[in-house]
Amino acid sequence: DDEGMVDLSLGVLEGDGIGREIVPATVRVVDAAMRATSAGAITWQKLPFGASAIQTHGSPLPPETQDALSDLPGWLLGPHDNASYPAEFRTMTAPGGTIRKRYGLYANIRPAVALPGVRSVRPDIDVVIVRENTEGFYADRNMFTGSGEFMPTKDVAMAVAVVTREACTRIARTAFTLARQRRNRVTVVHKANVLPLTTGLFLETCREVGHEFPGVRIDDVHVDAMAAHLVRGGDYDVIVTENMFGDILSDLAGELSGSLGIAASLNTSETQAMAQAAHGAAPDIAGRNRANPIAMFMSAAMLLDWLAQREGAAQMGRAAQRIRRAVTATTTAGIATSDLGGLASTSEFTENVLARVARWS
Ligand code: ATP
Ligand code: MG
Repeated sequence: DDEGMVDLSLGVLEGDGIGREIVPATVRVVDAAMRATSAGAITWQKLPFGASAIQTHGSPLPPETQDALSDLPGWLLGPHDNASYPAEFRTMTAPGGTIRKRYGLYANIRPAVALPGVRSVRPDIDVVIVRENTEGFYADRNMFTGSGEFMPTKDVAMAVAVVTREACTRIARTAFTLARQRRNRVTVVHKANVLPLTTGLFLETCREVGHEFPGVRIDDVHVDAMAAHLVRGGDYDVIVTENMFGDILSDLAGELSGSLGIAASLNTSETQAMAQAAHGAAPDIAGRNRANPIAMFMSAAMLLDWLAQREGAAQMGRAAQRIRRAVTATTTAGIATSDLGGLASTSEFTENVLARVARWS
């Protein structure tokens, strides 16, 4: 019975450093979860990306990769190490940023949840940060000025932030929609006391969108206060904020939940989604079978959930759930990589997750 089975093509961009270890491991885990839940089959398109693509295609993000991505509903993006590329390939916007911009992936969704068996400053944390990904204070994302920073004289540097009602509206809708699937609460993070026009427009627009979601409670907190509340243990559900605040708060929340090695994220537009671990390429441990693949596994699970909703394919949602349960069962059993104080290698950890993915039906 093929009812609800999907047949999807997804991209694989391994990237650099530990990406070449954790991304192939993630493909195996996803395939196993799809198989175990009879969710269908994924055809993986491996696309040149990163330092190896400079060797083979003369660019870390070759045109053929960009073209292929246009036609795909989703992909796995491995961490990449822009700083290690030869000078002529080192761009101000790293390839990941170029991809987010090119495909309009405006929402960066970063959950922070502690895992059993993983030491955490905030074992009770369970929030999702929804970060606006296309504008705000980040010069390289600035659509009006090209570069939002400039120097009127050699001794004065200035930065321009761009906030549009359109971008605020769509990120607010993402946040409220997500809150409806969780605990029905959205907290808008801003700094409207000192930036009343830019972050004020963000806040005002989120409030307006809130009227479309009468079942969701909305409140707002200044970004500085939110940093303190997150550490102290405030109980939040979905936090929506502009680009830079979201960048900073999601690293804070990720670290509070345990470690960089477990922090997952998904970048989305209306039509495409990209799974990306929150950490970098970790060149210090690359190639040594020591990387923690959890962040990439959990990001892939987010991608499957997103695809499941978009395709109306419930089984794929079960595959995502299967991955999360297998990871949780593995950490609960005390199996962990060295960044979490454990002894398992990347491949040992992966084999454990694979066995658990296959075990339950
Ligand atoms: P980027 O600029 O790409 O964010 P970065 O230098 O800020 O890179 P990471 O590459 O994330 O940071 O590495 C920071 C530290 O965390 C390193 O010591 C790295 O070994 C460790 N680390 C990051 N990700 C993992 C992982 N998945 N497993 C184990 N250790 C990790
Ligand atoms: Mg970093």
